[in-house]
Amino acid sequence: MHNDIEKILISKEEIEEKCKELGAQLTQEYEGKFPLAIGVLKGALPFMADVLRHTEVHLEMDFMDVSSYGGEMRSTGEVKIVKDLDTKVEGRDLLIIEDIIDSGLTLSYLVDLFKYRKANSIKIVTLLDKPEGRTADITADVVGFQVPNEFVVGYGLDYQEKFRNLPYIGVLKPRVYGGE
Ligand code: 5GP
Ligand code: MG
Ligand code: MG
Repeated sequence: MHNDIEKILISKEEIEEKCKELGAQLTQEYEGKFPLAIGVLKGALPFMADVLRHTEVHLEMDFMDVSSYGGEMRSTGEVKIVKDLDTKVEGRDLLIIEDIIDSGLTLSYLVDLFKYRKANSIKIVTLLDKPEGRTADITADVVGFQVPNEFVVGYGLDYQEKFRNLPYIGVLKPRVYGGE
């Protein structure tokens, strides 16, 4: 285990198993369709790669990078598009892929944007869900794991751009972010 990590919440093996299960589920849900999978950079990258590897439908992939102004440990709801899609969403079946839903503000912004752009359908798949943090009215269609209201890192999730490369989801030691 990395020296900055206090405890592992979800192991590499549990994540692998879950990606297989969710990939099979998405294969069923999108049978006969040609969805556009939209990865929300940068956090969703490992999850997107692993879950889509286990799907068997034809799909297209694109990426969106959004940043929320302000704090690095909580989102503010003011969302800025850093990188937009290259693909037109009008009439498409969208599968938004996220690392974690906390307040739900980022996704709520994206869902509104894609509705405005006339998507045919929008589904959300998220590796992690932190229901206690929710302030926006957003529910994911497919959830990997629920996590408690703690700041987690690893498997795409960062603290100051670090820890995205860890193969598991863990909690930092308080000294890493200036506590104790
Ligand atoms: P929301 O808009 O739902 O509050 O949060 C969305 C984004 O905030 C996530 O995609 C993620 O980048 C970041 N975030 C929320 N909770 C956590 C967390 O526990 N750990 C990390 N590393 N990022 C988080
Ligand atoms: Mg994210
Ligand atoms: Mg971040």
